[in-house]
Amino acid sequence: MFITPSHLLEYLYCPRFTYYEYVLGIDRREEKRLKVQLGKDTHLFKEKINPGYLRKKLGAVKKEQEVELVSPSLNLKGKVDELLYLEDGTMSPFDYKFAEYKDRIWKTFKIQETLYALMIKQLYQVEVKKAFLCFIRSKSKIVEIEFTEKDFEEAVDAVNECLSIIQDGYYPQATRVKARCPDCTYRNLCIG
Ligand code: SF4
Repeated sequence: MFITPSHLLEYLYCPRFTYYEYVLGIDRREEKRLKVQLGKDTHLFKEKINPGYLRKKLGAVKKEQEVELVSPSLNLKGKVDELLYLEDGTMSPFDYKFAEYKDRIWKTFKIQETLYALMIKQLYQVEVKKAFLCFIRSKSKIVEIEFTEKDFEEAVDAVNECLSIIQDGYYPQATRVKARCPDCTYRNLCIG
């Protein structure tokens, strides 16, 4: 079983999403359709980007595009938009977001990049100190995210918890953010 960034984002929003969707098999179709459309929009934008363009201002000396990352030992997989090889010998994930930059990095964006960083560290045996996000709807503004050891530890713990709900089928605690419940697809099923 592999955990993807999407699995983990759902888990972090509410651990019961993971249970309803992957243990009971009840899908959230409407939201998925929206995500697919957003994914298509981003893809169309990315297609226009010159594949030969190297972001030298960020210190890149080489890049790969659309890289599938798979780590059986971390139980993780995902696809990063670009993988940058930096002049200091480290590597960084680079991702496009079909979003505006609102002066802060959402936790969801950071966790996704942390998962890529964990896989890159392991698969390429290099240090990953930061990631870059390109906000398409803010004139392609590029924002840097720095990682700490704590970020990596928290991401590994979250992956293991998410995996354990799916594999062991235990019913997790509800999100502590009760404001998420009234509009939730699963509100009629959810107890306690
Ligand atoms: S109703 Fe609330 S606790 Fe239940 S799955 Fe939805 S968000 Fe989570």
